[in-house]
Order: sequence, then structure tokens, then C-alpha cells
Amino acid sequence: MAIAGIKDSLKERGVRLTRQRQILLDLLDKTGKHLDAESLYQLAKERDPKLNRVTVYRTLKLLKKGGLVDELDLMHWSGEQHYYETRSKQEHAHVVCLRCGRVEEFFGDVLQKLKKQIETHFGFAIAVTRTEMGGYCAHCQVLRAQEVAAASAPSAPAETAGHRHSRKN
Ligand SMILES: [Zn+2]
Ligand SMILES: [Zn+2]
Repeated sequence: MAIAGIKDSLKERGVRLTRQRQILLDLLDKTGKHLDAESLYQLAKERDPKLNRVTVYRTLKLLKKGGLVDELDLMHWSGEQHYYETRSKQEHAHVVCLRCGRVEEFFGDVLQKLKKQIETHFGFAIAVTRTEMGGYCAHCQVLRAQEVAAASAPSAPAETAGHRHSRKN
């Protein structure tokens, strides 16, 4: 859904596309990223210095309620932080690196097939899907292996750590 489509959908819901809303939607649309409210606020402020945090948070809530923006927790990889993206993208699954927070989006027929299977199995009509998986990216797999090895290695005796004993006053 392009911005024009979003405008129509907002109008149908009786939501006016104010300048603030337009800025936030544009940012989410153009970056194509999953931004938290604070990052969005920082980016939005560059476009309109008069924007304040409260307005940005309130606007996000409204866009979410209007079905234009989706809220994700991305497996809580960074705690209680929530992330936002536009609904304009084709349905996808999120794969999140639990170490560095890298997010990949999986668009594949298999998702549609899974949805159909679930609908048949439970007799549901699926209206919205949000799929998230957590793991470790290729980069972090290597680093994690090193971290685990370092943590399990016998710790060196304290005396060798510093120069306390070799120092002569
Ligand atoms: Zn990673
Ligand atoms: Zn996404």
C-alpha cells in the first residue's frame, strides 16, 4: 500500500492524516526498518523540530489503532522495547538475532500455506498474522562460541593479572 492508499484507508476510518502522522508513516515507509518509538522521535525531530515526544508516542498509538502500523516486540531481544513498521508491506515473518538485534524479514509462500493449514485445522478465518523467530545470526554464532569458550576456561590466578608484585618503589 502506497502513501496514497494509506490516506484513503485513514479517511475511511475517519482519521485525519495530520503532518505528524504523515512524517511518522513516511519514516517507517522509507527506512523499511523496525524502529522503536524513541528512534522514530529522533528521526521525526529532524524533519520537524517542533515535534515533541508526547505527540510522537500518541501518534504512533493512533496509527496502530488505525491498522496502519504494526507493533512488534521482536522476541524482546532488548527488553521491553517495542518496534514499529508499516502494514503496507507484504506479510512476512521476522527472524531476530538475540545477540545483536539484527532483523531479517522472510517473505515466502510457505507462510501463506501455513496460514491456510491453520485456518483449515482450527476452522479459523485468520485476519492478522505476526510471526517471530529468535536465534543467532552467522556473525554472532562465531562470537557466542568464543564467549562460551572464554567463560568456561579456567580463570588465571589473580597475581598474574596485574603488576602489583613486580613494581619496586
Ligand atoms: Zn547477531
Ligand atoms: Zn517487518
